[in-house]
Amino acid sequence: MAGSIGRTKIIGVMHAENSLEKKIVQRGKEIYSRLPDTSPSIFDPSWWSGHLLEWAMKDPDFKVRMFRFIDVLPVLQESRQVTRFLREYFTDLGESLPEAFRWGMQAASGPLTSRLVAPMVRKNLELMAHRFIAGKNPAEGLRTLTKLRGKRIAFTLDLLGEATLSEEEAEIYRQRYVEVIHFLADKVDAWKPDPLLDEDHSGPIPRLNVSVKVSALTSRLDPLCREAGVDAITARIVSILQAAREKGALVNLDLEQYDLKTFTLSLFGKLLKEEQFRDGPDLGIVVQAYLRDSPEDLSRLIRWARERKRRITVRLVKGAYWDYDTVIRRQKGWSIPVFLHKEETDANYEALSRVLLKNIDAVSPAFAGHNIRSIAHALAVAEELGIPSSAYEIQMLNGMAEPIRQALVELGYRVRVYAPIGEMLPGMAYLVRRLLENTSNESFLRKNFVEGVPFEDLIAPPVPPGKEEGDTSSAGFRNEPTADFADPSVRETFEASF
Ligand SMILES: Cc1cc2nc3c(=O)[nH]c(=O)nc-3n(C[C@H](O)[C@H](O)[C@H](O)COP(=O)(O)OP(=O)(O)OC[C@H]3O[C@@H](n4cnc5c(N)ncnc54)[C@H](O)[C@@H]3O)c2cc1C
Repeated sequence: MAGSIGRTKIIGVMHAENSLEKKIVQRGKEIYSRLPDTSPSIFDPSWWSGHLLEWAMKDPDFKVRMFRFIDVLPVLQESRQVTRFLREYFTDLGESLPEAFRWGMQAASGPLTSRLVAPMVRKNLELMAHRFIAGKNPAEGLRTLTKLRGKRIAFTLDLLGEATLSEEEAEIYRQRYVEVIHFLADKVDAWKPDPLLDEDHSGPIPRLNVSVKVSALTSRLDPLCREAGVDAITARIVSILQAAREKGALVNLDLEQYDLKTFTLSLFGKLLKEEQFRDGPDLGIVVQAYLRDSPEDLSRLIRWARERKRRITVRLVKGAYWDYDTVIRRQKGWSIPVFLHKEETDANYEALSRVLLKNIDAVSPAFAGHNIRSIAHALAVAEELGIPSSAYEIQMLNGMAEPIRQALVELGYRVRVYAPIGEMLPGMAYLVRRLLENTSNESFLRKNFVEGVPFEDLIAPPVPPGKEEGDTSSAGFRNEPTADFADPSVRETFEASF
């Protein structure tokens, strides 16, 4: 008897999974069938940036050198420095360079032509950066946001800047946020209403939505002197929140590399509790599905929202600091907090999508990403749970996956674009993350738009490998790593020892 109940249960689960998979394929097909033959602009090989990325994807050695060069370019003041670095980084690649670059390298070596090359290289890289950046300043940004609105797309604005090195710089960043909120508020209020963008299932939502990185708000973000950092940030974020409350804007805290995660989450918890913000502004936070501890983080956020009787926006992302959090932490001998297989991240993203949708009374889910499978999964689960599409939104990055976002708008979903504003120098880290993301072997966009992987493979469920790979580095002698103070348990032990 017990056996037959067990079998019935298993068959029931299999049936539910099959019917969900069918729905996912349907939703995915609806999106996929709307995609035009053209690639998103960043991959278009008729543009210099597309050509560069195409080459970077073919040649890993060229890709590494390209990143090194992009990293150093903004600080090169003089043309001769640019040509010197070009020669140092690329000359020995010789014949393996694409033709256009070979020509550039020859020109960089000529005494007369070298002066022409540096401004051309700089201009082209700026053009590439501006595919992702919505404008150099708020006025330029507003033009992009208005165009997006015309296409029935909402926005969240980000002022480029992170990992601030001085308190003066952090203070300027705070001021700019307050100013941009004041600058945009009246302008976006004057836009014609669009219920798709201005309302969710329970009423109006803010048109003005800003995203903030905590590492831009203080230079004292050392996990070892958390209090100093928290105090400096709290004062600055409170001022941004006050402006947002006055102007009816939503403020979202972005998540960055792992060592800032507990810090950002505890700051968010603190802001949720602040009496002066009890009635606003609306607040949002990010959960990174590539983190092994993200399920616990999400449960905690949901609990806080319930305790404080406030619906919060949770933007679910896979995470943009995978390379940093594996390479740097491995170098320091610290534990790796991210999954090591893409399928694990994808599967966790799906699991967390379901958790978000099941707790729709406490959270407004924002599914961020460009992967049709991950998006279709969220849409199908929402449908299965009887949740209207106005109760959640899909978020994408400016300059990426335009055909997919267009398809989603046509299908009647609320799409919000993450629109960074600022100059090239503070935007460099952002540009590098986007280039890493687009050229990664694992990238959905690359698989879809560059490699032409068939739809059936793109829409297949993620299957994580059965068991973790053993850590072979533990064999033999190993240096004792320095303490990882980003780990709360290490901090607690340290504090308790005084
Ligand atoms: C609106 C918006 C806001 C964002 N805000 C943030 C933010 O605040 N913080 C942040 O970190 N990111 C943020 N991102 C970036 C986001 O993390 C990436 O765009 C996203 O990971 C890309 O996922 P995808 O589903 O589009 O693509 P996919 O190609 O399906 O997934 C790529 C992702 O898979 C993961 N991955 C790749 N290789 C592996 C591997 N070997 N093992 C495990 N996982 C792997 C990485 O997270 C990688 O980015 C934001 C993105 C959007 C669209």
